[in-house]
Amino acid sequence: MSASLELQNNLAIITINNPPVNGLGHATRTAIAEHLRAAETNPSIIAIILTGAGKAFSGGADIKEFGTDKTFAQPSLPTLIEQMDVCSKPIIAAINGVCMGGGLELALACHYRVGTSGVQLALPEVKLGLLPGAGGTQRLPRLLSMDICTTMISIGQAIQSDQLADSALFDAFEINPQVLLQTAANFAHSVAALRPIPRVRDLSVKQKVEAGFFSNTRAALMKKSSHFPAPFACLDALEASMTQDFDNGIKTERAIFQHLLQSEESKALRHIFMAERAAGKIAGVDANTPIRSIKSVAVIGAGTMGAGIAMNFASAGIPVHILDLQSASLAKGLERIRHNYQGAVNKGKLTQEQCEQRCGLIIGVDNYAAIENADLVIEAVFEDMQVKQSVFEQLDQVMKAGAILASNTSTLDLNQIAGFTKRPQDVIGLHFFSPANIMELLEIVRAEHTAADVLATCSALAKKIKKTAVVAGVCDGFIGNRMLEQYTKQAAFLLEEGCTPQQVDRAIEVFGFAMGPFRMNDLAGNDISWAIRKRRLAANPSAIYSKLGDLLCEQGRFGQKTQAGWYDYQVGDRTAHPSDLVMQMICAHAQALGVVQRHISDEEIVQRLVLSLANEGRKILRDGIAARSSDIDIVYLKGYGFPLHRGGPMVYAENIGWDKVDILLHHFQQGHQGNTWILE
Ligand code: NAD
Repeated sequence: MSASLELQNNLAIITINNPPVNGLGHATRTAIAEHLRAAETNPSIIAIILTGAGKAFSGGADIKEFGTDKTFAQPSLPTLIEQMDVCSKPIIAAINGVCMGGGLELALACHYRVGTSGVQLALPEVKLGLLPGAGGTQRLPRLLSMDICTTMISIGQAIQSDQLADSALFDAFEINPQVLLQTAANFAHSVAALRPIPRVRDLSVKQKVEAGFFSNTRAALMKKSSHFPAPFACLDALEASMTQDFDNGIKTERAIFQHLLQSEESKALRHIFMAERAAGKIAGVDANTPIRSIKSVAVIGAGTMGAGIAMNFASAGIPVHILDLQSASLAKGLERIRHNYQGAVNKGKLTQEQCEQRCGLIIGVDNYAAIENADLVIEAVFEDMQVKQSVFEQLDQVMKAGAILASNTSTLDLNQIAGFTKRPQDVIGLHFFSPANIMELLEIVRAEHTAADVLATCSALAKKIKKTAVVAGVCDGFIGNRMLEQYTKQAAFLLEEGCTPQQVDRAIEVFGFAMGPFRMNDLAGNDISWAIRKRRLAANPSAIYSKLGDLLCEQGRFGQKTQAGWYDYQVGDRTAHPSDLVMQMICAHAQALGVVQRHISDEEIVQRLVLSLANEGRKILRDGIAARSSDIDIVYLKGYGFPLHRGGPMVYAENIGWDKVDILLHHFQQGHQGNTWILE
């Protein structure tokens, strides 16, 4: 049984027991409903206590049943709550550990609540594009201020029970979690005979909300969540608690919930939620795969990436040696690390003490002997196979047996890199994204001989340093950069055909990307993609791509760093100004190619850019480079700013329907440089 019933001293104690977080799956709801019925009909029972086994009261919906028919099977959560409302004996919630989502709605439907210290209270449904659909939006405002309700429901922020110890949410509060149940039992005896039994639904919303509260809150939400309807819908439901009686408020809440459930945004967020969990499952790795202990890390190269990578480990309390052969580069890297941490202190995100602690964990060195005992070494030197070779040959010489040897290469062949060592089973790709201390994505690259325990260790480590990891196979660009290449190519072809950089950027930014391809390249540096193109062209001289990027770089227009790229920039200002020079360059180039320029709609721009990603994604899947379609979405969402409310490029194509996508792609194949659209 996923909830137990114990009779003790005239009390019925129902304990929710569905590990790991007592999710309210169908079997659990059924068990609670049966136990309530048994307790109600047992004449010796005077009150009922509802609590959770282990570390949680209840974490809400059962993830295992997510999206299945069982989620709404009877007794549904609203039905169970109605049963509690009309129960003839008082029900007391003894709230322990974690009380979230449906779990908190269940507690709100109890007649009394006894809280304790350190409980995490949350109604996070908004993060899945939903609202609490079992009365949460109507009951919470009957107990707490509208300010707190908005924070919890419209933003989905968790609150610690101690902050609400004196609020009407709790009828009693036990500081010591160890004796919560005893306190709840004493409390139950003290209220058992009281009639009528109080119900939250019967309280009035006495809130005195300042004039303009809801419109001001909507305006504030607009700044953060303009692409998502749920935060606003949550606010509508909260407002209904003030303007409607309880039963009508519940009807409003249900109607909004049903509407949100069907929304594209909620579907996208739920897809992401499931995709993140799926990404952790790695073929050949299971719970029994051993994990190597990582107590110290070394990073080779103190440049842009090396410094950021080192910060991840120091921030997780793991000591890091950072090695660079150029003393000036090393000093600069260490300075950048301190500067970044100090910036976090200045913003109030870190204390000065934490800053010192973290800086203290990072030690700069200039020789390999100093890193030989590291459990993991991550190479982040120049993107040049010869340099990588010399580094990996040295690592093979000095590193202790069992150390993991990782490369941060973006494009080079990891199997070849592994071949520079006599221990290819210990070699793996850990592809961080820039800025490495901030970006959430980590591509874990599995080479031909990478051992399962090395993968398992890196996957666990990713969680420790708060990254979302996706496993990729070896190919040029892995998952993300391989797709990006097609996207960037299309963006440049659009210019040859008649678009301006600002039109392309604006269209894709309206679609939801934070930054269009040209503003993004100006930020990253056009010289970097220029170098990659040169290398790829050397390997494949017949590769088709637009020469516009090369022409731009030949004029020294590397981007923001040179105040000129696809746009013009003023010193110290990142605002992109359209450039006449670039427009002349594009026109002259198109003329030389003999391309007749035409008007291109924003819709075509978005379709060509996004479908170039999805089309390559499909090939990546076919080639076995990614294990599942949702992994590809995660890469693009977490590493490349794909709009969250769209769910990812693969979901975008699935929503259109792959057969319709293929019709569109065949159409694009007939157009300018159409032979770059390589279809299945
Ligand atoms: P960078 O030029 O900023 O830094 C490279 C550093 O390596 C320099 O400090 C250099 O002195 C040092 N170095 C060179 N040879 C060395 C050697 N033999 N031993 C020790 N140190 C040496 O480069 P970066 O942008 O940090 O890129 C590093 C790696 O990360 C490359 O493989 C790159 O492809 C990859 N990467 C870069 C990005 C990015 O956006 N910059 C993103 C992901 C991955």
